[in-house]
This record gives sequence, C-alpha cells and structure tokens, in this order.
Amino acid sequence: MSEQKPYIVSARKYRPATFKTVVGQKSLTSTLKNAIDSNRLAQAYLFCGPRGVGKTSCARIFAKTINCLSPTSDGEACGVCESCKAIERGNSFNLVELDAASNNSVDDIRSITEQVNVPPQNGRYRVFIIDEVHMLSNAAFNAFLKTLEEPPKNVVFILATTEKHKVIPTILSRCQIYDFKRITVNDMIDHLEYVAKEEGIAAERDALGIIALKADGAMRDALSIFDQVAASSRGNITYSSTLDNLNVLDYDYYFRLVDAFRAGDVTTALLIYKEIRDKGFDSLFLVNGLAAHIRDLMVAADARTLPLLETSQEIAGKYAEQSKLLPAQWYYAAIKLLSDCDLNYRTATGKRLLVELTLIRLCQLLKPATPPFDSLDRPLPLNDPASTPHTAAAPPTPPAPKAVSSPRETAPKPAEPAPKPTAPAPQPQQAAPAPPQRRAAKGAVRPTAFRLNEKPDKGNTPVNRLEQRSAPINPEGFAAAWNEFIVRNPSLHILVNAMRGAKPQPAENNVYRIVVDHPAQLQAFELSMPRLLEYLRDSLSNDLLTLRVEVAEAQPSNKHLPPKEFLRKVVEENPAMGNLLRVINGELI
Ligand SMILES: [Zn+2]
Repeated sequence: MSEQKPYIVSARKYRPATFKTVVGQKSLTSTLKNAIDSNRLAQAYLFCGPRGVGKTSCARIFAKTINCLSPTSDGEACGVCESCKAIERGNSFNLVELDAASNNSVDDIRSITEQVNVPPQNGRYRVFIIDEVHMLSNAAFNAFLKTLEEPPKNVVFILATTEKHKVIPTILSRCQIYDFKRITVNDMIDHLEYVAKEEGIAAERDALGIIALKADGAMRDALSIFDQVAASSRGNITYSSTLDNLNVLDYDYYFRLVDAFRAGDVTTALLIYKEIRDKGFDSLFLVNGLAAHIRDLMVAADARTLPLLETSQEIAGKYAEQSKLLPAQWYYAAIKLLSDCDLNYRTATGKRLLVELTLIRLCQLLKPATPPFDSLDRPLPLNDPASTPHTAAAPPTPPAPKAVSSPRETAPKPAEPAPKPTAPAPQPQQAAPAPPQRRAAKGAVRPTAFRLNEKPDKGNTPVNRLEQRSAPINPEGFAAAWNEFIVRNPSLHILVNAMRGAKPQPAENNVYRIVVDHPAQLQAFELSMPRLLEYLRDSLSNDLLTLRVEVAEAQPSNKHLPPKEFLRKVVEENPAMGNLLRVINGELI
C-alpha cells in the first residue's frame, strides 16, 4: 500500500463501466440495454438482489448510458463524452445518489424530491439512485410516494434493495422490477482471473475458486478477498497460500475422509482427523464441513441436481467421480450421523471423542458388523436395489462409465436372491416365557418410527426383509437394554435423564409406552428416536418394536381440592386418620 501509485482497491478499480463488463447478469443487462435502445424507459426501477452482485453499478451504468452524448454502436456509453466523464468522476449534476441505510429521514428524502423539478444539464435525464431503499422510515416512504407517483418526464428513479420483501407494495407497484442473481462461482473465477492478469498477479485457478466460494455470490467481496490474499502472498496466489490465508480446510481432506469411510478404514479416518486438528481447525468446523461435502457429493451424484453444486468445474468433476462410488442411502445416513454430532457437540464433555465416534460410525456404515461384536451402527441393508453398498473387502467395482447422468442406475445390482440368514430366526413359540399378550403377532404392529433400511409398507405383512426379527420381548430384557443405552450414551444428557425418569410399560404388541414429565423430554426422545430404536431392536432382536412417548398430563394434586374434599381424600387414603379424627371428635365438615 506504500507504492508510488495510489492504491485503489480492486472492487473499485474493476467496477464495471459498461453493461458488457457487468459480471454474471447477462440477461438482465441485455434487457436494460434493449429498453434504452428502443427508448422505452420506465420512470422508476427497482433493482433487487443480494449484496455485491452489481445493483448499484448497473444503476450507474444505466444513468451514464441514457445520458451519453455519443453512445457506441452496440448501445453502450462511450465513456469519453463530457456527461460520461462527469458521471465517472462522480460530480455529474444529472446523477444523484442517496444511501437510505444512513439517510432515511423525511428530510433526507425531501432533499431529493425538491431537486426533481430542476431539469438536466448536459444530458437528457436526471437519475436518482436510492440505495437500500427498504431502510427508509415510514414517514420518508410516504413523503417519497407522491414524487414517485408523478415524476417529471426527464427524471428516472432507480431504487436498489437487498430486501425486496421490506419494500411497501405501493412502491413495488410503481416500479419496474429487476431481480439480480447471485454470481456463480465459475463467473467469479473468470472475472478474478481477468483482474489477476490485469494486475500482473499469478493466480492458480483453484485458489480463485476458494476465493469465489468464500465470497458467497458477491463479486465485491470476492475482489476484496482477492486483494487481501494477493497482498499477503506477494503477488503469487497459490492454492495453499489461499487456504492458509482464508483459514479454509483443503477439499482434499474431505475427499480422503470419504475414501476412508468407503473402505471402512477407521485408522485412516482418525489420523486424518488428527491432521486437521493439528492444523488448528476446530472439530465442529470439520463436522460441518464434512456434512457440506457429503451434501455436495449427493448433489453431484445426479446430473439433474448437479447445477446445485457451487464450485469450479474442475472440482465438480472430482465430486461426480467420488459420488459414483457411494449408494444413495449412504448419504442420508452419513448426513444424519454428522448432524447428530453437531447437535450433541455443544453439550458433550468429550468433544473429541464424540467426533471420533462419529467418524468410526461413518466407517461402519458400509461395513458389515463382525459378530460377536456389534458395530456401533448396523450396516446399510443389502436388500434395497436402490442402494449398492460396497463392503470393505471388495474393491469398488466401478459401474460401466457410460455417463455421469444417473449413477444409481448404472451401479451394479446386489447379488440376488439374497442369501437367507444363517441363524434361524427365533420362533415366538420356542422362545422364552413371555406373557402371551406380549408375544409378537406377525405383522400386527408395524414400527412407525424412522428407520434407515425400512421400505414403505406395501401390505400389512413384513415381506422381503432380509432379517425381519421378531423375537418376543419380555419386560426384564427391555429394561436391561434400556439401561444399557443409558450407560453407553452419557453425552445425550437430556435424553438420558428423561430415560432414567421414565418407566417404560409394555402397551400393545411390540409397543412400549413411555411417559415423560416435560415436552422437552419428548423432544429429546424424538430427536434420538432412530438411534434409540436401532439400539433396542438390535439388543432385543425385534424389528417390530416401537416406542410411544407421551407427556404426562398434570396430576390433579390434593392441595387444589376444596378443604372438605381434601380431608375426605386424606381419610380415604389413610384410614388411620379417620380413626384419629373420631378420637379427637372431629368431623368432616
Ligand atoms: Zn458518453
């Protein structure tokens, strides 16, 4: 910044001067240009859209173009005539700007409305730009409305806002509305590349991709970040210097982690986690970043959702490649695990352990449990043709790489018919001395709670499930499994506390009823229901088990009874008290 030349920030230096140079708003700018060409100008425009996407720039270009004394053949402002120059210098009489964010009073708006009757000089129109128009006070809005209703012929209002819904309808109805889009990552990368070239800065495209992502759709932000990175990397913007500068975790970690999950490689997953921590990244940052990565993979798996992926084309290819190797259900299960981890993170005492456990679970999603040790989570089912899990042992058989379009369909089908489970399913008759009413009646009660490997019910018989377990449940076994879950999940504070207080009672077949005192406890149950059910069903070898959680109704307590009722109740519950009353010659009055 201590150069001889005055330093101008890129966001200002590369502010577009013509419609053609506006980044990422092609259709909108050509509509505006057409309107100018055909001389069909509205008197009021409303430019809406997120910050940093070019609303004010477009408004200025518009003002410049309609006032240009010698427009170019393709309908742009010349940039050299007196009017263009005055507008570029910011001292044109024909362009008046008001930032309503800081000038939102009636007086501020009056300073504008008083000017509208003064005719333009050196041009045909006077243009009034009101930025952040939604910030005007109500009184200012009303004061403005009259002018907006009947402006003089040579006046054009351009209102800009990031929050269209806050602009009152009477104003909306008087304006021609233009919605600006967020700028796509690829458009941004292209523009940053152009700026880098102009500035003589070497920049890797991947690095610009990181900057574009960080800017989240706002070109102005992208250019500011670009300046910041360029300054600290001394004119050589590399991928790694950008990661360091912006405190962004390399994509590569996520790709490697997912590879480890796919292979069921717990060791590698934990080591990568350590590496990330050693780099100074917060664990929760990793959890959320990983969830976002998996969401991106899911989106990349289908050509139809591919446009939802916000990244450079190069990285998009990498996503599409990795996503081909994963079954559809894996994504839902993985995102669920990560969001559970995110939910529990704040209250967990062993945060690192919580994240490590989550990573282990992720490794086990595609890997079958090895008896007699049960995995933390059961593997995804093999009986759903939509999902094609790869076991750890089998190297991923890449689907015939016809097209990225629908990897689900090209994925290899699971071996069918599925082999029968080797262990005979316990028959209700031969099983333990459960009370008859609790005996599992086939298909009588269907679990309603969310379950990963559950397909929608087709009839009332549980058909085609590889392992539809329905061992009878006895209350002792249930209580044991219940307590075991409590012991194993100390981090689920609210749930575990609610579980301790609740006394689950067998209700209908395979249904247990749980009464809790407080709606928050009900919510805790609901949040962790899949996990709890999974655990109980596994422990009890019964896939039909469901839990019905209810909040206790407030018990009518004795102290709210009228005195006579109260005494009667006391005597009823406590006959000795009646005797006492008789002895002291008292009576129920
Ligand atoms: Zn001009």
